[in-house]
Amino acid sequence: MTTLDDRVGRVLRPELARLTAYHVPPAAGMVKLDAMENPYSWPPAMIDEWLLRLREAALNRYPDPSADAVRDALRVSAEVPADAEILLGNGSDELIQLILMAVSGREAVILAPEPTFVMYRQLAEGMGLRFVGVPLRPHDFSLDMAAMRAAILAHAPTVIFLAYPNNPTGNLFAEADVGELLALAPGLVVLDEAYLPFAGTSFMPRVAAHDGLLVMRTLSKLGLAGLRLGYLVGAPAWIREFDKLRLPYNINVLTQISAEFALSRPEVFAAQVADILEQREQVYRALDGISGVRAFPSRANFILFELLDQNPLTVFEALRTRGVLVKSFSATAGPLRRCLRVTVGKPDENAQFLAALQAALGH
Ligand code: PMP
Repeated sequence: MTTLDDRVGRVLRPELARLTAYHVPPAAGMVKLDAMENPYSWPPAMIDEWLLRLREAALNRYPDPSADAVRDALRVSAEVPADAEILLGNGSDELIQLILMAVSGREAVILAPEPTFVMYRQLAEGMGLRFVGVPLRPHDFSLDMAAMRAAILAHAPTVIFLAYPNNPTGNLFAEADVGELLALAPGLVVLDEAYLPFAGTSFMPRVAAHDGLLVMRTLSKLGLAGLRLGYLVGAPAWIREFDKLRLPYNINVLTQISAEFALSRPEVFAAQVADILEQREQVYRALDGISGVRAFPSRANFILFELLDQNPLTVFEALRTRGVLVKSFSATAGPLRRCLRVTVGKPDENAQFLAALQAALGH
């Protein structure tokens, strides 16, 4: 007699049995510093105005399938080159999936430096694609260009993902290194600029100059994680093909209205970002001053830090007991196994985190 497990194993891709689903820990009642969210909401008058817009939402109708108003607003706010096209996704996660779907079913190799954003590998392997991770250099997490050149030569990757700045290390790869990879890559290079608001430097102006360059961004880290809106910018020849795989109504009515509204208030988000950047420097300096802690410089809205002489999982649990949720990498075998990552929050949240960390370390 065959069991249900047998049937599942027989029917589904064998790769799936080896993967684990993306884990989101419960955070109710916690100081939530684990997911790179913007800690700030909107001024009350802005919320009122937004709610007025939402009153007009036609929930009985399908949304605009191409979300033209949002795309037009993004074209302006993101300074998208005139000859480039924009594809919207339900978060940039969906765009990663879409790009991989478009190359799946062949002998494609997907390449990324590691450690990096886990969904590149997760989605590639889940679709049966071969994923090659090239270790970043120890200590500063810069690109190991000799290893990257060799991997490109050996594997001729169909897609290279580069998170710029990188998650979870927080650093920005050298512009010249990225430029060299763009010149060497035989296929696509997806430059994932999820943390652009905090890095302030972008490859967007170069989209037209490189046939294989796609710039991917999200509104999540800017402060709209709940909306789920990512966008991909590239030559129309690419975007047109990806669009054939996009679900017709992937950006819902409420997201379209809300994103268009939010993009009309750049000054609100600019002020929040300025505050987060100031807090990032304060938290970095404070972390760096704690004995037994090594903090890595960050160009994003989070900071990776290493525990030099204490068990990171014990410290993570001690922080959680004190009501502070961060991200632990102690379950990974790689260079981050002694590391935790903290998202920059509001000043009082950061103070609570730092006090909890001091206590957890027994200081
Ligand atoms: N890219 C990077 C580098 C990220 O860190 C994240 C979120 N952690 C994403 C993409 C996904 O963002 P979203 O799906 O919210 O747009």
